[in-house]
Amino acid sequence: MTRLARLALGATVIATIALSTSTPTRSYALEGPKWANGSIVMHLQLGPSGTLIDGAPSWGSVGESAMAIWNAYLNNSRFTVVRDSTVAKVSGDSVNSVFFDSTLFGEDFGSRTLATTLYWYRGSRMTEADVVFNTEYSWNSYRGSLRSDLRDFRRVAIHELGHALGLDHPDENGQSVTAIMNSTISNVDNLVSDDIAGAQALYGSGVSGTVSFPPRNEPNDFYTQLIGIYQNELRAGQSLTYVDPEGTVIWLTEYARQRVGQCDHSTASQRTLDQVSGTGGTLVCAATPSGTIPFPPRNEGLDFMNALQAKYRDSLGRAAGSTYVNNEGAVVWVLEYLRYRLNGCSHGDATTKVFMQIRGQGIQPVCQ
Ligand SMILES: [Zn+2]
Repeated sequence: MTRLARLALGATVIATIALSTSTPTRSYALEGPKWANGSIVMHLQLGPSGTLIDGAPSWGSVGESAMAIWNAYLNNSRFTVVRDSTVAKVSGDSVNSVFFDSTLFGEDFGSRTLATTLYWYRGSRMTEADVVFNTEYSWNSYRGSLRSDLRDFRRVAIHELGHALGLDHPDENGQSVTAIMNSTISNVDNLVSDDIAGAQALYGSGVSGTVSFPPRNEPNDFYTQLIGIYQNELRAGQSLTYVDPEGTVIWLTEYARQRVGQCDHSTASQRTLDQVSGTGGTLVCAATPSGTIPFPPRNEGLDFMNALQAKYRDSLGRAAGSTYVNNEGAVVWVLEYLRYRLNGCSHGDATTKVFMQIRGQGIQPVCQ
């Protein structure tokens, strides 16, 4: 099944103006289908532009920024780009093409149509979305009020990508709201709350984390040292594991990041396991309040670690291996290392403090 979604220039003749007599009971409008969790790969083949009014070097860079604008609000599915793609500009090939043309796959664009997104779906699943910009118009990229002579590629791209996500025109669905998704182009040059609410209804919500976690190599280094202590000082026996040391550190850290980002245990676990599958976004639930960073209790961390083991065994098909640091040790000490790091300690200080605890010297003060 396919459908068209067109963006039109504002009508020059207004035939009727209807007064709304009722309060809208909902906002935004959905096309119906949406993408499966994961990446929505867009093949950009927009050609050269020269430097644009807003300083952008190419249509492609503007298109990518339009995708990033949506991605900042999407959790379960996100746009990814193939730059300067050379894929065939055809409809029905399950490839998402974005390009300029004088027709819509050979058909007339229709009067006053700036761009059209033609999408394919099967049941409730979006399977293809092609965006074609009409070469009949003069395009540039700028902010603010519309110019009479130049169409703003960026805001039209944001609008069309909204269709590609599965959003429809609110104003053609009985609503009167400010939205970049309305059917005519306007001075709205970016996403507004109604657009964001629509996208998050489809793909889940979240915010960018407000707490910065250490770069991956540092907790990995900590964990390597921890293995040495378990093996050589604690004389730990080996226990069964399906998760390699790097996976242990990466995913425990991500679980902790989701918890610090105000997700509850089950939400944080699910979001992290979705990322293990390659289908989850990296947004967290809410901004972290200021003050001492809260950390999850160890029983919840252990519950996550057990779920991670099952994921590696059952979904990823990993073979059993052995580790000197058992699940509980991994959870307790990786979380403790991160707790020190997020509360002001350097990599070296956090590592030292955790190892003092392991050697029986008690919980150490944080560094701030
Ligand atoms: Zn539209």
